[in-house]
Amino acid sequence: VFSTIPEIPADALFALKGRYTADTRSQKVDLGIGAYRDANGKPWVLPSVREAEKLIHEDPEYNHEYLAISGFAPFIGASAKVILGDESKAIEEQRVVSLQTLSGTGALHIAARFIKKFYTQSQTVYLSQPTWGNHFQVFETVGLKTATYKYWDDATKSLDIKGYLQDIESAEPGSIFVLHSCAHNPTGLDPTREQWVQILEAIKRKGHLPLFDSAYQGFASGDLKNDAWAVQRGVELLNETPILICQSFAKNVGMYGERIGAFHLVLPSAENKKAITSQLQAFTRSEISNPPSYGAKIVTKVLTVPALRAQWEQDLVTMSQRIYKQRVALRDALVALKTPGNWDHIVQQQGMFSFTGLTKAQVQRLETEHAVYLASSGRASVAGLNDHNVSYVAKSIDEAVRF
Ligand code: PMP
Repeated sequence: VFSTIPEIPADALFALKGRYTADTRSQKVDLGIGAYRDANGKPWVLPSVREAEKLIHEDPEYNHEYLAISGFAPFIGASAKVILGDESKAIEEQRVVSLQTLSGTGALHIAARFIKKFYTQSQTVYLSQPTWGNHFQVFETVGLKTATYKYWDDATKSLDIKGYLQDIESAEPGSIFVLHSCAHNPTGLDPTREQWVQILEAIKRKGHLPLFDSAYQGFASGDLKNDAWAVQRGVELLNETPILICQSFAKNVGMYGERIGAFHLVLPSAENKKAITSQLQAFTRSEISNPPSYGAKIVTKVLTVPALRAQWEQDLVTMSQRIYKQRVALRDALVALKTPGNWDHIVQQQGMFSFTGLTKAQVQRLETEHAVYLASSGRASVAGLNDHNVSYVAKSIDEAVRF
C-alpha cells in the first residue's frame, strides 16, 4: 500500500550536517546549522544552565511528573516577561495567553493551527524574502497559503525598505505578516528602529495580523531588552489587534535539543481569554499531550533566580561578542587577502548568521575543495568560526571567489 509514496528531498541543512559529519578531511569547518560553538568549535553548555541543573538536582522535590497541558506555570510567566518586558502593560492587564511549546518551531506550529482554525480574515502568511526555510513548511503543512514580502536587496546588501513597505500596502487587508523580531535568519540584517516604526505603522494601517518570530533574543546585541524592542514597540503601537509571538530558547539558553519555547498571544483585551486558552490547549493535548518538563525547569531557574539570571545575561554577552569578533576577523582576513568584493556587510550583520553574498557555485567549491560547509544560499553560521579556523576559511573563500 505504501509502495507509490514519492521520496522528497532531504532537509537541506540537516543533509549538509550529514555530509560534514561524514567528511574525513582533517581540516573541515561547519558553518551550517545555527548552533553556537565555543572558541574551540565545541557545543557550549551555558554556565548559567550548569548552575540551574545543579539546583534542580539538589531539590528534594525533583521528579519527572507530567506538566500541565499549558506547560510549567513558572516558565510560562517568566518567558512572557522576557519578551514583553517586566513592566509589560499587557501582562499586567492579563491579556496575554501563553503556552509552553516544542521550542520555536512548535510555537510556530501552534500559531499556524490557531490561524488556520480561527482567523477568518485571511489564510495567507507573508514571509520575508528570504527567510528561514522551514517557515514555508510550517504554515503550508496546516493548509495555509504563503507569500513573500521584499526584504533583502542583493545589489546593496541592505534592507529593501521601500519594497517591504509596498508589499505591506499591496497585501490584502488582514493578511498575516511574519516578522523576525531580531537577528534575521538568514541575512543577519534587521530594520533600524525608524524602519521598524514605519513597518509596524503600515501593518496597523492595513489591519494585518503580526506574528513575531523570536528565535534569537539576546543574540543580536547581547542585550535582552534591546533585542525585544521591535516586539515591545509592536505591542504598544498595534494595541487594537492581537499579536502572535513565537519564542524559542534553543539558541539564547543553548537548549537546542530540549525543545523549550512558548507561544504568546497578546490580545487587545482580556475578553474571551479563557475560551482562547481552552482552544490552544486542545491543540497541545491532541499532538503532544503536554510539553517537556526538564528543559522548562532549567530555563525557569535561569530566568528567575537572580544570580543565574545575571550569569545568563553575561553568557549572552559572551556569545554575541565572540561571534562579533569572528565577524571582524573574517572581514579583516578577506581584506588582507585582497579578496575581490566588499566584505563589510559581514561585520554589519547581526546575530548568528552572515549572508555572505557567495554564489551557489562558490559555496559548492568551498565544500568540495576546502571542506568548508555553509548553506547554498551563502548563509554562514558565524558561530562556527574561531581563532583556529578563521584564516583557513578566509583563504578558502578567497580561492573560491577567484576561481
Ligand atoms: N525561527 C527562526 C527564524 C529560526 O531561525 C529558528 C531556528 N533555526 C526557529 C524559528 C526555531 O528553532 P527551534 O525550533 O529550534 O526553537
